[in-house]
Amino acid sequence: MLRAIYPGSFDPVTYGHMDIIERSHNLVDELIVGVLCNKAKMPLFSAEERVKMLKEVTKDLRNVRIIPFDGLLVDFAARMEAKLIIRGLRAITDFEYELQMSQTNHKLEPNVETMFLTTSIEYSYLSSTTVREIAAFGGDLSQFVPEAVAAALRKKMCTKGECNK
Ligand code: ADP
Repeated sequence: MLRAIYPGSFDPVTYGHMDIIERSHNLVDELIVGVLCNKAKMPLFSAEERVKMLKEVTKDLRNVRIIPFDGLLVDFAARMEAKLIIRGLRAITDFEYELQMSQTNHKLEPNVETMFLTTSIEYSYLSSTTVREIAAFGGDLSQFVPEAVAAALRKKMCTKGECNK
């Protein structure tokens, strides 16, 4: 049984993340999308909200589970009995950080490997940060996130007093 973890902030989930989930879940028996709770990062959406959105957009994928976590990724992997970490690589700017993280995780837990999927070209520019910025200015989000996520972003911007509609 090969279980993998795809960890991230997913603040919020984008078509770029969904592309990695869709391409990797068929490679393993079970894919756990690990939603990092880390409050120090001051996320726009709470962990509960991010989990809810991910559950909604992956509801048709039978071997995908969404689980929030805190603390070290290798400890979460051990708790989940996962031997594989999956990460997406966009540009060279991702590479340095990802290399450092994967080597550190391998030092901490030699039994867990990190596997990288290179981004699909149509999503290589896409990040949650960009999506949050477009939402803050009331831009069209339809090319970047599913409608359920776009609706949650519009609602969140209104509650923050940045309502554009
Ligand atoms: P983190 O805060 O850990 O960087 P993110 O939610 O930004 O988490 O991203 C989680 C993972 O998804 C990372 O491996 C990141 O490189 C990958 N990712 C993010 N956006 C894209 C995209 N557009 N295409 C492919 N991979 C992506």
